[in-house]
Amino acid sequence: MSGSRIAVISDIHSNLEALQAVVDDARGRDVSDFVCLGDIVGYNANPHECVEFIRKLVTVAIRGNHDHYCTHNECLDDFQPTAANVIAWTRRQLEPADVAWLAGLPYSKTTPGGVTYVHGTLDSPEHWGYVFDNLDAAAHFAYQRTGVCFHGHTHAPVVFTKRGTEIVCYDAPTDGPVTLSLGEKYLVNVGSVGQPRDGEPGASYVIFSPKDRTIEFRRVDYDIDAAAGKVLDAGLPPLLAERLRTGR
Ligand code: ZN
Repeated sequence: MSGSRIAVISDIHSNLEALQAVVDDARGRDVSDFVCLGDIVGYNANPHECVEFIRKLVTVAIRGNHDHYCTHNECLDDFQPTAANVIAWTRRQLEPADVAWLAGLPYSKTTPGGVTYVHGTLDSPEHWGYVFDNLDAAAHFAYQRTGVCFHGHTHAPVVFTKRGTEIVCYDAPTDGPVTLSLGEKYLVNVGSVGQPRDGEPGASYVIFSPKDRTIEFRRVDYDIDAAAGKVLDAGLPPLLAERLRTGR
């Protein structure tokens, strides 16, 4: 594994203020590489700006369900009406180069250093299943060949570990780095940069240090008023502005 520290970010959801704050925080903490686990767009007001920013920033980017549906003319009947409306709005904001880049993103990736990245689960990633509980995690772990896999999609930072047949889930520790044991497999949910749903409004991400085998969960304050104001100004559903303040 390389010695550089990696910021793993996910579920930016067109929130440029949150993205900028996370990148600033990571750069101040000796991070040299950025990896994005998808859902760059959807929900908030700056899809084009976020795609442009991420394209220049990351060494690895993975496709999320919103990236997929905003760049493929597929039926949106399975989405809640609010989400479907925002996807239709987002499609109109993206430029051709944004669409081409988003549409070409992979569903998952394993690096030569032995780390796997996926948006939701390795159990049929193209079906966008969620890992909420140990049963979901077991289905995922059946496909995880590396010691560590990072994902997002639920917008809540948690860790699943597997030792033998036992799976344990715990909330993301906020009191400093966690050291990864060699005998266990880890599925690490990095939470959401642009629309946290665990009751904490601060932008969530993880700093991964392959050399030290540590992960550190970070929460970053950002200008929520600015991001929420842009949602309202764009004519997007007011609920999407409000949930930024509550982290729900
Ligand atoms: Zn998402």
